[in-house]
Amino acid sequence: MDVKKRVEELSEEMISQLGRLVKYDSKRGEALPGKPFGEGPAAVLAEALQLAEEMGFETKNLDNYCGYAQIGEGKDIIGIAAHLDIVPAGEGWSTDPFTLTRKGDVLYGRGVSDDKGAVIASLYALKVLQEEGIALNKRIRVIMGCAEETGSPCMVHYGQVEEPVTVGFTPDAEFPGIYGEKGMMALLVKSKNTKIIDMNGGFVTNAVCNHCITVVPAAEVEAEALRKALEKTPLKEFTVKEEDGKLTIDAVGVAAHASTPLLGVNAASYTMKALAEAGMQDDFVDYYNSHIGTACNGEGFGINVEDDYGNLTFNNGIVKTEDGVISCTIDIRVPVTYTPEKMRELIAPYLEDEKGSCTIVNQVESLFFPLDSPMVKALHQAYIDVTGDTERQMQVIGGGTYAKEVPGIIAFGCGWQDEDNHIHNADEFLKLDQFKLQVEIYVQAIKNLLAL
Ligand SMILES: [Zn+2]
Repeated sequence: MDVKKRVEELSEEMISQLGRLVKYDSKRGEALPGKPFGEGPAAVLAEALQLAEEMGFETKNLDNYCGYAQIGEGKDIIGIAAHLDIVPAGEGWSTDPFTLTRKGDVLYGRGVSDDKGAVIASLYALKVLQEEGIALNKRIRVIMGCAEETGSPCMVHYGQVEEPVTVGFTPDAEFPGIYGEKGMMALLVKSKNTKIIDMNGGFVTNAVCNHCITVVPAAEVEAEALRKALEKTPLKEFTVKEEDGKLTIDAVGVAAHASTPLLGVNAASYTMKALAEAGMQDDFVDYYNSHIGTACNGEGFGINVEDDYGNLTFNNGIVKTEDGVISCTIDIRVPVTYTPEKMRELIAPYLEDEKGSCTIVNQVESLFFPLDSPMVKALHQAYIDVTGDTERQMQVIGGGTYAKEVPGIIAFGCGWQDEDNHIHNADEFLKLDQFKLQVEIYVQAIKNLLAL
């Protein structure tokens, strides 16, 4: 069968099927009896399973955490884990985010790229394989999760109630694929003795703190010296106000994802740097600058490590003051060859200090498949065979995908390294050419995995 031609013939049908899923506002809601993520995710899962059933696939709903559509027989399972939940639509759309809108050969709507389009592309890959009539010696299962954007408890549930997959991929990142995902370590740093009256900033732990307001006694630092020190920083804006014997510093930096902290400007870190430079003598200012600082590499905690696949990144996300104690959340992305045990060993001597303290609050293991492992090679080859592209290389990333929750798989597509589809933003889109190419690549990828 000419797969390209067949996908072309199916493309109008694929678009209308995608429209059926885009209609649902499937962001996570409050848990209801039997609906762990609320109404929206349960409703879109029911629709997706209905659609898969109409296509002639076997389906199963796993307690509204996730569900799957399946073809084939055999002991092994090729798993394709995509997700039906979305991040909130947000403001600024030029079309209705919950109506699939086509302008020329571009499709708009929340989830068209992340990740409802991938669900449809995967289901149509199964359809083409079935039409080709090739013998399926393994089960091919499209797993549709309902809470990827909020920590993937859907896949934890899958692991508890279902058979594990043997090999596979998650179409929720970029082509040609992600063979490594850094580990994670979360820290909570707390002040001991500090003269800082109040310090609050940041909005989430996994982004650079982009706005921070700090109040210090005016007797501890001179306003003019502080302004001069702040001017030397890369902060976007700042003000220093003196009132009632207090200085209030309002600092604006630049937000960025925690896995790429050097793309941002940390408002808290540069405030601390400026306070020290302006001459403020304070235990926590010292502690912050020596342990957290502005380098974003963990050197202050003895963990500035790297391997052949990347370096450690270190980000202060949220700063807050409660009952006179300042706390800072730290999000660390750990190089793939460093284990959680090794990281604990490295950081241990730095956790207690007379000027501040630090605790490890969470650790997540890294994910790594060698580039020459059979599954990685099978997927990469499918990409090359369909696109002819040997320039783009598989990557190691600091972010996390379903691959961390579903043992045996890696992220493979469905976006492109140099294409910004506005995911998590207004006017999220998917080009029709990309949509069709996804199906073609996934057909070939599954054939290669069947042959393993
Ligand atoms: Zn996604």
